[in-house]
Amino acid sequence: MESDLQSQRVPVDINFAPPAALVELAARVKDFVVEKVIPYEKDPRWTSHGPTDALRLELNELARTAGVFAPHVPEEFGGKGLSFIGHALVFEAAGYSMLGPMAIHCASPDEGNIHLLDVVGRPDQRGHFLKRMATGEIRSIFCMTEPGGGAGSDPSLLQTTAELVGNEWVINGRKWLITGAEGAGCAIIMARNEGGPMHGHATMFLADLPDAAIRIERTLDTMDSSFTGGHGVIEIEDLRLPADAVLGEVGKGFRYAQVRLAPARLTHCMRWLGSANRAHDIASSYARERVAFGKKLGEHEGVSFMLADNAMDIHLARLAIWHTAWLLDKGDKAANESSMAKVICSEAIARVADRCVQILGGLGMTRDTVVERIFRDTRAFRIYDGPSEVHRWALGARIVAGKM
Ligand SMILES: Cc1cc2nc3c(=O)[nH]c(=O)nc-3n(C[C@H](O)[C@H](O)[C@H](O)COP(=O)(O)OP(=O)(O)OC[C@H]3O[C@@H](n4cnc5c(N)ncnc54)[C@H](O)[C@@H]3O)c2cc1C
Repeated sequence: MESDLQSQRVPVDINFAPPAALVELAARVKDFVVEKVIPYEKDPRWTSHGPTDALRLELNELARTAGVFAPHVPEEFGGKGLSFIGHALVFEAAGYSMLGPMAIHCASPDEGNIHLLDVVGRPDQRGHFLKRMATGEIRSIFCMTEPGGGAGSDPSLLQTTAELVGNEWVINGRKWLITGAEGAGCAIIMARNEGGPMHGHATMFLADLPDAAIRIERTLDTMDSSFTGGHGVIEIEDLRLPADAVLGEVGKGFRYAQVRLAPARLTHCMRWLGSANRAHDIASSYARERVAFGKKLGEHEGVSFMLADNAMDIHLARLAIWHTAWLLDKGDKAANESSMAKVICSEAIARVADRCVQILGGLGMTRDTVVERIFRDTRAFRIYDGPSEVHRWALGARIVAGKM
């Protein structure tokens, strides 16, 4: 009996102390962001449609010099092939400036696309597309969502078609909200098969850009502004691709979308958590300095409670990320956990940003601090990669069906 109890005192495999090498790498990324990237936040090349490619390339060069460029990508492309826990530490550090992920080349949508090609791409596709994406030579886009009643929260509404004519795929359709469209060097396009044994199934295709058959109708004016290339509306008219332009297997597009989305929604959580830290640090400094009604703002309970709530939301978000990352590293698909983490983090981070604006008062409304931009940019995170309601609905359906 005594020996049984003793054996239960042995620490089990739940470890909140990541390897020292990862902690050191994340610290170097954070130092790089603070010293080299934050000074660029007032650069006029950070436009309302995102940082320009010129700004991106300049920051990429600084990251290479500092030895922190793309540490997450596979080793064959110069990275360190980080674990998901490694991603969590490094991406949170990068997110301390909204320009940080772009600077070290872990921004969306490239980061998710690189992961997808690493898992699904053929050797020749790795050579032609993945290598150039991973090294930052080109940017990539992921084309799923459609305007006018097509694919959105419900991907089964996909309207873009792909028909095999002789030895070529012919693709037609319209896409919108496509992040990074302006200036991208390749596209992953989701389309529905017309005819053939896989009629009606979805397939992913890889296309080089620019291509005259893929026209950017316009770049949308959106609330957010931290993604290079903005968010485009794209018309695809008689795009002709070779038969082997398929990514993975014909008809498995929706399955691969999950390969991309489960980790991709978690890496969004990691980067935005970094921005929440930044907003909280700015608001905390203000609360320590600013005097109102005879004492520091932070000495007023109403303000200190907001700071405490921020700390709790940040802690909660980090725990959800680390647990899901730990599951992914063990080979678990973590479908439920990544859904929960996405909702927990996107909502917690939004609450933090909102409180920070409130603590800063009028200053919070201005662009004199980056908090205003963090507030605007994090709003969309409750919509892309699955709106909160869709995740709640899917989780609830699994609970009711007794599967969770
Ligand atoms: C900034 C930004 C970047 C994006 N980047 C890309 C990109 O690069 N590539 C790409 O393909 N797409 C991209 N998207 C599109 C994004 O994936 C879609 O906006 C998202 O999937 C929601 O689809 P929708 O906009 O068509 O909303 P709809 O499907 O019209 O849904 C509208 C709202 O209805 C509610 N709703 C829907 N279904 C349910 C349900 N079952 N239960 C309860 N409520 C529900 C939700 O509140 C939802 O927000 C981006 C979007 C944004 C905002």
